[in-house]
Amino acid sequence: MKCVQCMERLSEYLDSELSSVEQQQVETHLEECSDCQNLMNDINALREAVKFNIESIPAPPDLADKILLSIQKEKQKNAKSQWIASVLLIFFISPVFLLFTRVFSSVFYLFYTTGIAFWRSFVTLMTVVSPSIMLSVGILALTGISLGFFAIRKLIHDFEMNGVFQ
Ligand SMILES: [Zn+2]
Repeated sequence: MKCVQCMERLSEYLDSELSSVEQQQVETHLEECSDCQNLMNDINALREAVKFNIESIPAPPDLADKILLSIQKEKQKNAKSQWIASVLLIFFISPVFLLFTRVFSSVFYLFYTTGIAFWRSFVTLMTVVSPSIMLSVGILALTGISLGFFAIRKLIHDFEMNGVFQ
């Protein structure tokens, strides 16, 4: 047997996976060849070291839970910060872009005229309709606004929980 053949079979030899004939051939070669003998000793030492290190560090029983929990936390943190970042980006960037476009002035004018129109209708309404009806309309509007606010908050919360923003 040549050194190359012996080295190829060393791992299987150490695991006693060779046929008895091959086992014998490797043994014979090892007795004659110090190089292969040294290699086998190195492999053995390495195996023992790996085995010892793996055995000497037992994994804590709650390690898997801890890893899963920290991954989950990290995901939520990332989702939250990305969500905040995108909102801030939209909040700060969009007016800047609007300012530089002619659209901004027309939109502003539209809002202005719409606002004026609403204000005029409101004033007309106030003079026509009784105050008690106006009060109930106001309460209805407030209820609608708060319901919408909570609905949006719940939507955002659910999105975060589902990790949509990752
Ligand atoms: Zn050899």
